[in-house]
Amino acid sequence: MGVHVHKQVKNKFGTKFDMWMYLQHYKNGVDWYGGEITTFKNLEVTPAAAVLHYGQSIFEGLKAYRNSDDKIFLFRPRDNLTRFNDSAKRMAMPQLDVETHLKIIVDLVIKNKSSIPVGREGALYIRPTLIATDDSLNVGASSSYSHYVITGPVASFFDNKEITCFVSTEHFRAVPGGVGNVKTAGNYAASYLVSEKAKSVNCDQVLWLDPRNRKNVEEVGAMNIFFAYSNGELKTPALSGSILPGITRDSVIQLARSEGVQVSEATLNIDNVIEDMKSGKIVEIFGTGTAASITSIGALEINGEKINVKPCTNSKLKVASHFKDRLLEIQYGEVSEKFDWAIEI
Ligand code: PLP
Repeated sequence: MGVHVHKQVKNKFGTKFDMWMYLQHYKNGVDWYGGEITTFKNLEVTPAAAVLHYGQSIFEGLKAYRNSDDKIFLFRPRDNLTRFNDSAKRMAMPQLDVETHLKIIVDLVIKNKSSIPVGREGALYIRPTLIATDDSLNVGASSSYSHYVITGPVASFFDNKEITCFVSTEHFRAVPGGVGNVKTAGNYAASYLVSEKAKSVNCDQVLWLDPRNRKNVEEVGAMNIFFAYSNGELKTPALSGSILPGITRDSVIQLARSEGVQVSEATLNIDNVIEDMKSGKIVEIFGTGTAASITSIGALEINGEKINVKPCTNSKLKVASHFKDRLLEIQYGEVSEKFDWAIEI
């Protein structure tokens, strides 16, 4: 029987949490232990806990989507859980078996089912997290950890409005060989100074350049970035080692290529990007990520100058909204797809 109740999610992203969470612990020489679904509760860590001092901490972000036939889907969850392990490895933390981790998430989502929004306005955000819990100020990998998963209903992140991005020419998010290509907590804290600066000049997000040349476009906020050209081509920065390999990024690349669109993963110099925006060669810019899906970027602000994207007037390409729609119809299990990305649970 179809579900017709329309629950609108109005809370600010990531501020409402469900009744049930998953929690387990790890100790060197013992392995994982004590795993259980429990009511959402505070963690007990000492003020000396390793995570609080040196930031040995990783996380993931994925969503469960529920459609009007009351079917629930995860989107490429194994990719998130594999990336979780890549993050754990980089931060010298223990990994989790992907299938075991997936089962934990499926059981938890089912337990919290009543809070999953119905339809495209919302989804259940799932946040697996791993923290170092040694009671020690020793600088070095912890010998004990806690892994937990919390969930909560979210609306789509940017309300479909076009955003303006502040190009950071002074501060950089990540370096090749560093940790920018994994999801460790410090990456985000380190970006706040610049996101506050962006807000102060009425920008919504930060566009990050590479630290070596201070020229090449990397990411935008917690999203990967795409440029649509008037000749139909899509360009996105090649994974440089300091860019997070987004699952939405990969999905857009695969979807576009399957439609015959030429997609280049390239080095994109900001000066050329600005030139191409001004000349009208670039007709759309958009960010991709789990939280925000696909978000159109209407303007860039660089060194005090605001440059607007000049939309293509003759052939309204509407690339961002096209791929957003393609992605959402797969995520909500509304269409059959050849990629096997949507996993019904
Ligand atoms: N870039 C950063 C820094 C992120 O935190 C995220 C979100 O996880 C992304 C890009 C987009 O990745 P995904 O599409 O896997 O959500």
